[in-house]
Order: sequence, then C-alpha cells, then structure tokens
Amino acid sequence: MAILPGNTLGMLGGGQLGRMFVTAARTMGYDVIVLDPDPGSPAGDLASEHLAKDYDDTGALDYLAQRCAVVTTEFENIPALTLAYLARSVAVHPSASALHIAQHRKQEKEFFREQGLDTAEFVAVENNDDLEAARDFDFPAILKTAMLGYDGKGQVVCESFDDLKPAYEQIGGKPCVLEQRIDLACEVSVVLGRSTSGEVTCFPIAENRHANGILDMSIVPASISQQHAAAVIDAATRIANGLDYRGVLAVEFFISSDGRVLVNEMAPRPHNSGHYTLDACETSQFEQQVRMVCGLPAGSCRLHTPVAMWNLLGDVWPEGGIPDWESVLELEHAKLHLYGKAEARPGRKMGHLNCLGESLDDALELLETVRAILGVK
Ligand code: ATP
Ligand code: MG
Repeated sequence: MAILPGNTLGMLGGGQLGRMFVTAARTMGYDVIVLDPDPGSPAGDLASEHLAKDYDDTGALDYLAQRCAVVTTEFENIPALTLAYLARSVAVHPSASALHIAQHRKQEKEFFREQGLDTAEFVAVENNDDLEAARDFDFPAILKTAMLGYDGKGQVVCESFDDLKPAYEQIGGKPCVLEQRIDLACEVSVVLGRSTSGEVTCFPIAENRHANGILDMSIVPASISQQHAAAVIDAATRIANGLDYRGVLAVEFFISSDGRVLVNEMAPRPHNSGHYTLDACETSQFEQQVRMVCGLPAGSCRLHTPVAMWNLLGDVWPEGGIPDWESVLELEHAKLHLYGKAEARPGRKMGHLNCLGESLDDALELLETVRAILGVK
C-alpha cells in the first residue's frame, strides 16, 4: 500500500540533502519530522518538526516510529543500531543492510566485485602486517580511511611504497583501503530510484569535475560514448538489484584513460551530482526519494534542458560579507539554491547553482559568467 500525502515521513539527518527532501515532501503534502542533534540544521529549519536529539536517543526514535509511516535518511553514517532499532517498529528505506555496506569502503568494493563489476585494484590496510604486504602493490596509490570519509577527507596519495607508512600514521592508524590511483579520462555518476516492485529508473548520467577532492561541477548530458553509458547504467542497476535496494541510490564511476569503467563508490541517498535534476529534469532526485520510500511509482527522469551544476563552497563568500547574489539573480537561466547555513567556511557546501542552456555550451558559458561575477577563476 502506497503511503499517500497527509502522512508523516521521518528523515534521519539534517543536512542539505535532508532539506531538499523536506522541501519536495512538503510540496507534495507530506509532513516530515527530522532527527538531527544540531538545533540549527538546514533540514530541521524547514521540517514540520525537528527533534534535536542524538541518533541513539531511544525516546526520539520511539517518537519517530510512532508518528511516521516510513523513515529514510540523507546520511549513510547513521549508526547501524539506530536503523535496527527503528526497523523493529516502522518501515525504514533504504535498509540497514544497504547502509551497512556503504559505510565501509572495503565491504563496498568487495560487494561491487561480487556483482561482477570492476573497481580500481585495492587492498585492506588495517595493521603493520598489511602495510608490509602492500610492498608489491601497484603504486601510485591512494590510502583512504575505510569509514567516515567524504569530500576527499581522510585520503593520502602515496607515490611509492615508501610513502605508505607515513600516510598510515597521518591517518592515525585507522582501518584503511589502499587503492590504485587511476589515470582518469573522466568521472561520471548516476542517480537511480528502485521501487517496491524492483523497477529501476535512472536519471541521465552526470559528468563530474572535482577540485581538491570536492565535487566542483556536474555537467549533463555527459560526453561519454554510448558504450560507456550503457556499461554505467548496467553496473548501477546491478548494484541496486544486488542490494534489493529501495529508495534513491547514487553510484560514482571512474572512466580510465585506457577506456575501462570502474565503480568508485555508492551513496544510499540522493547525491550532490544529482542536484541538476532540481531544475533540469521533470522529477527531482528528492521527489524521486519521496516516491520510492512511499511505495509510489517513479516520476519521469526526462532531462528537459542541458545543465551545468556548480557547487557554491564557503570559499566564494567574501570576508565578513555575502556574494553578489543580485547580479547572479539577474541571469534568467541561473538557478540559485542556498542551504541556509549561517557560517561560510572554506570547503563547506553552502549551496549550488544550476546553469541551464539551449545547448551544453550555452550552459557552460553561463556558468563562466556566474563565476566571473563571484570572482572565481
Ligand atoms: P565523496 O563521498 O564526497 O564523493 P570521498 O571522500 O568518499 O568523497 P572518493 O570519491 O573516494 O572520496 O574520492 C574523491 C575524488 O578523489 C574522486 O572523485 C576522484 O576525483 C579522486 N580519486 C579518488 N580515488 C581515486 C583513484 N583511485 N584514482 C584517481 N582519482 C581518485
Ligand atoms: Mg566520491
């Protein structure tokens, strides 16, 4: 039975992904209760109700379970016990088991391999024996913390075996994965929805450019071959089916300069590289998340215009001031999204801009205009 408007949905996590879910859900006539310990969280500010409690507060979890028809998340590092506790008395999508795999890079990569998919070569580094055993690994490589990494944090490049031990020490001896550094032709991602009946609906593939380990831009449509596009869609679909997933899932890929399609990682939720859907697709990735967790059919993923999404990091905020929004808002095809975060810090995701165009070149030209206005080269 579908969960229809008028019902209340639960959201674990109060960041910008939660905020955009809240906006989509409330637009469609649902109430949303957000659980996030931060009293000023972006999603909590727009929610019907915000529980500023810890994720292991059983009183808050009992309340969510009692009030909500379904609970979802915007944050893969929600403690597994929280999900297990909730799942005893309320529907939780995506499942605790899908989140569990996504929480740990080694498990995640092993899972991709089990689905018959290619990843960069990797080896677990969890102790000194593992360090020594990596002597024969194919460097250059990147040492990554197995858990809690995001925006390139917890990653150290190792040009050769000699760099490995200092890198492991720099990471504080936490469990890691050592991953071969790939010579990239480009990076792409796909956001998909998988429904109760197991039907998979993919948004168009986004081509992603990163700066300092953080997503900088997503460009759609991606300029990749039909063969690569088919391999990406097939791989993402296999992952969703292999997890028996329900909800919105994002999968990131490397396309190597020698033409291989390698799965990088997945996110069991909407994704930064899917923000272009807010203005360029018939359905946004957040409406799709509402539809999937409520047991509704998927909305159309049709792209109605080429688009270039640009992330607005705290770096574009002038010291003690705000960027020149007035000039940006004069541009009729530039769509501004801000997340309501008070403090702009370097590297902090404050919002994004979707630049639309008749052609992708037009969209990219508009993006250059916006960057010039905001003083970014
Ligand atoms: P997020 O969750 O924010 O996407 P993350 O911290 O989990 O980031 P990754 O996706 O593993 O990080 O890496 C961030 C970026 O660093 C990649 O998108 C890519 O640009 C670069 N990178 C990571 N691993 C490799 C690799 N093995 N070879 C080449 N580049 C890499
Ligand atoms: Mg990534």
